[in-house]
Amino acid sequence: MPVPADHRSFRLTARIRDVVAGIWDTSKLNMAVARDHALERMPDRVDWARSIPFLLMHLACFAAIWTGVSTVAVAVAIGAYLVRMFAITGFYHRYFSHRTFKTSRAGQFIFGLLGASAVQRGPVWWAAHHRHHHANSDREADVHSPSQHGFWRSHTGWFLTIKGFTPDFRLVRDLMKFPELRWLDRFDIIVPVLLGVGMFLLGVILHNVAPGLGTTGWQMLVWGFVISTVFCWHATYTINSLSHVFGRQRYKTADTSRNNWLLAILTLGEGWHNNHHYYPNTARQGFYWWEYDITFYVLKILSWCGVIWDLKPIPLAVRENPARRLP
Ligand SMILES: [Zn+2]
Ligand SMILES: [Zn+2]
Repeated sequence: MPVPADHRSFRLTARIRDVVAGIWDTSKLNMAVARDHALERMPDRVDWARSIPFLLMHLACFAAIWTGVSTVAVAVAIGAYLVRMFAITGFYHRYFSHRTFKTSRAGQFIFGLLGASAVQRGPVWWAAHHRHHHANSDREADVHSPSQHGFWRSHTGWFLTIKGFTPDFRLVRDLMKFPELRWLDRFDIIVPVLLGVGMFLLGVILHNVAPGLGTTGWQMLVWGFVISTVFCWHATYTINSLSHVFGRQRYKTADTSRNNWLLAILTLGEGWHNNHHYYPNTARQGFYWWEYDITFYVLKILSWCGVIWDLKPIPLAVRENPARRLP
């Protein structure tokens, strides 16, 4: 039976409405992909077109040859590294992925914005992949397991694949309830662009106000944004790659996670990765006073200020459980 013209136009309107809604919010589409088990069938090869910005950021580091360097540019680069590394470890990891403390809805959005400035996509994407890692650690399905897929795939390759661009959003239903977080995920480019523009303007202002510092807009963009971001990226990735290869295992876990003091320095506390795999449900990853965990110290300060609360501790009986400790 032919479809009446008004029905056809209704269907067309609904279709257009879906497409427009999809531009602003891809979550429904992503949920449908996950529900249809299409994720498992997605190609596991690198999506070179979508990887271009990632590759260009690395090439752009060499622009420092032309912009030169100054003390103030390096200081800003180190500051931007530390703030954004904390935003990844404290917020993307310990808050969005593991919910190891609480905050207000406004606080949650600000944490999402700060995390997005590290240019590691949105909080929902990040948390979905991370929860998948914990659920499938070092098994075939774990897309960044070095023992399953090799070092480079675990370090950088996994998030450049067609499959890596689309995580399993069923794992983050708690985060998908918030439209502002879905927005942050959909337009994950906005915060990095604003930060890049901000760094350029900072350089221009300093060049005019304090020319003795020897910086310029381009120099500050290259050091404060590009180089700082690339360092922050690779330090973060070591937790997927190196901390599943090098270091000491204190606890018996069903994976290859290790405690590595050097990576704990680089990542502000994330290097205690065997501790973390053993008991991910705590805000701290250094379980003893000598296991420095800068992220946890800053979270503690934020809790004293009332910004966050209910930090989950490591129960003593869990920490000292002889049945799970390795000699
Ligand atoms: Zn791990
Ligand atoms: Zn984790």
